[in-house]
Amino acid sequence: MVDPFWQKLQQLGIAGKPLGADHYQAGSSLMEYVNYLGCSPSLRSGDIESTLRIHRFDQPAAMGGDSVDAIRYPVCKHRLADASDLLRAYPARTTWQCPECGNQGTLDQINWRKSAGFAQLFLEISAIFPKEAIPTDKLLAVLHELCGCDWTWFYSRASD
Ligand SMILES: [Zn+2]
Repeated sequence: MVDPFWQKLQQLGIAGKPLGADHYQAGSSLMEYVNYLGCSPSLRSGDIESTLRIHRFDQPAAMGGDSVDAIRYPVCKHRLADASDLLRAYPARTTWQCPECGNQGTLDQINWRKSAGFAQLFLEISAIFPKEAIPTDKLLAVLHELCGCDWTWFYSRASD
């Protein structure tokens, strides 16, 4: 059974050959759908094999948190040291408390600085150096058409 999501991505050349369940090689046209900002030398020369992976969840889940930039609690601006733990506990737990000053709130108040996402469906493109690539409007439009919802993006050092 071919998943319509992957079928479309393959048709457009965004995804290539399947590598496993919800895991595909990058297609030959992927670079038309992703803007590379830095020099990304290893990607350009093909040293790194890019792959695409879909993560599906039955209920909204959080991914990411392994950020390049410091994530800080709102208001007090103390550093959030346990971002990954906090995200893993979602959605069972949606609140936080700053260990340094007791300030508290909910996850949606935190500025994750494009290091985390909340969704039921994630499309992971790797390997990309953090902040050196952004999806084009064309890619976001394709995904919108496939799922009927708006997409955004974030950078994470790890997918789990
Ligand atoms: Zn604090």
